[in-house]
Amino acid sequence: MTPRSVLRYETWTLQPDREPDAEPVLYAMQCAVDGETSPASKDFAEPQDWVLRHCGQNPDDAR
Ligand SMILES: [Zn+2]
Repeated sequence: MTPRSVLRYETWTLQPDREPDAEPVLYAMQCAVDGETSPASKDFAEPQDWVLRHCGQNPDDAR
């Protein structure tokens, strides 16, 4: 048996939050496949965590 791991990635876009009442700089991720967006956060780690969860829950998005 040959263990084989296949990693598939979606296409992610970094976009500024342009809402009038937004914090000065927020990071957010949007899935290019289904249009879902992460929560916006000043901490980049938060949307990044969302990406990892989203990829885990939607492995078919990367097709
Ligand atoms: Zn997706």
